[in-house]
Amino acid sequence: MTRRVPQLIAGAFQESASSDWLPVTDPATQKVLWEVPMATDAEMQQALASAAEAFLSWREVAVSERARVMLRYQHLLKQHHDELGELVSQETGKTFADAKGDVWRGIEVVEQAANVAAMMMGETVENVARGVDTHSWIQPLGVCVGITPFNFPAMIPLWMFPMAIACGNSFVLKPSEQDPMTAVRLAELFLEAGAPEGVLQVVHGGKTQVDTLLNHDTVRAVSFVGSVPVGQHVYRTATQNLKRAQCFAGAKNHMVIMPDANPQQVVNQLVGASVGAAGQRCMAISVAVFVGKAKDMIPALRDALAKVRPGAWNDEDAGYGPLISPQAKERVLALIAAGREEGAECLLDGSDCTVDGYPDGNWVGPTLFNNVTPSMRIYREEVFGPVLCCTSVDSLDEAITLVNNNPYGNGTSIFTASGAAARKYQHEVEVGQVGINVPIPVPLPFFSFTGWKGSFYGDLHAYGKQAVRFYTETKTVTSRWPDDDVVHEANMTISLK
Ligand code: NAD
Repeated sequence: MTRRVPQLIAGAFQESASSDWLPVTDPATQKVLWEVPMATDAEMQQALASAAEAFLSWREVAVSERARVMLRYQHLLKQHHDELGELVSQETGKTFADAKGDVWRGIEVVEQAANVAAMMMGETVENVARGVDTHSWIQPLGVCVGITPFNFPAMIPLWMFPMAIACGNSFVLKPSEQDPMTAVRLAELFLEAGAPEGVLQVVHGGKTQVDTLLNHDTVRAVSFVGSVPVGQHVYRTATQNLKRAQCFAGAKNHMVIMPDANPQQVVNQLVGASVGAAGQRCMAISVAVFVGKAKDMIPALRDALAKVRPGAWNDEDAGYGPLISPQAKERVLALIAAGREEGAECLLDGSDCTVDGYPDGNWVGPTLFNNVTPSMRIYREEVFGPVLCCTSVDSLDEAITLVNNNPYGNGTSIFTASGAAARKYQHEVEVGQVGINVPIPVPLPFFSFTGWKGSFYGDLHAYGKQAVRFYTETKTVTSRWPDDDVVHEANMTISLK
């Protein structure tokens, strides 16, 4: 019988009583790996009630003990790094190296969460008036929830619950129904690290279960990562219900290539940044903007992309894996066809891609378009596949205008040998994460993940100091202790008259 993905409710891993189950398939073979439930309403209510109860005691646990749970968790995640990587590979089809990177970037956030005491320090001012002092405490909110996408099943849950829980909150995680087992394993290791019962709950489902979380009175804060339409729905519903929300959504990331950039570096970096992970990264480069003579690099780029071939997760020579589902593949193929119909020049077409031994995989080969214009669907829509669009402009100013006119603002990069060009770009571009000769500028967790514009709804971002502010309230205390009635005795003890 196919294994059923358990939920973590009230401290116990248990099989759902749901009658509604979806298959979770291996994207390279379509073999059913396991089945995931759509949690019943009773299970959702139980998870939320248990999280609310757990919060009351967890918030009282010393901050250093909360940090120690994170230290033990970080250690366990490292011990199980290969096993977690293999699980990510099975569910997503990512190559093993890529899957381990997914886990590693999550481990780095757990490391940062162990530093929570320093990040929860308040402020003090003595004598705000004569004999009156003010100080602030940073206190947890209560029950926080997280809704995560398929493309980073380890990293993105780990962006959320370790920081929220380290701050003293309890957390309900609803992972992607397309790869839910990774989250379950992360939760098992979290309990093994000493997290008390109820502090973390894992429920499964789709829209119905997400809407229950968004509409529940107990929930104080909502973290979401996923597509634009769902992100807008989650942000609107959560904030309409007067909850705090941070919603990370889709992207269209440009790399600007100046004529003085090192051609070999540009080609090498652009190949990995565009088709790596089958382009299923919110920070993937999907548009290359060549300034002036930089466009002479396009033939070499084409040749390098043509050498990349997808393959199974354990094929060490594979450049990347399959797309997550047949539906995702159909979407990408339709966008490639639209690119051709709308007049973009297709230099490399991966639509008819096969991989020996895996006839049923969701394969798409590296695809390269030139002369793409902003009105084309392949430019306007997030492709989320191994497709790179090239366009050429005459000046850096023109490149900046193009990037700034795009509604998204997740990540961008510039490749150049000129400090002045790089300085101008980083200053003027309206994108939240900028790389200079770095193609995918994902900040490490002592910073925050700072997408802008249509790529993010909210104000406080994921991980780093911003996450601590997102998952906490500031309480400001003003105090006055009149000493008129106090006798200061010679032996330094103080007693009332
Ligand atoms: P998705 O929006 O389909 O799903 C995300 C989550 O929302 C899942 O848990 C899913 O079950 C839930 N969901 C789906 N439909 C829903 C609905 N109608 N109502 C409520 N909840 C619903 O996203 P995906 O396909 O899993 O992930 C890919 C997307 O995520 C891409 O657009 C990518 O750019 C984006 N993403 C963004 C970032 C970022 O940091 N900006 C990071 C990773 C992924």
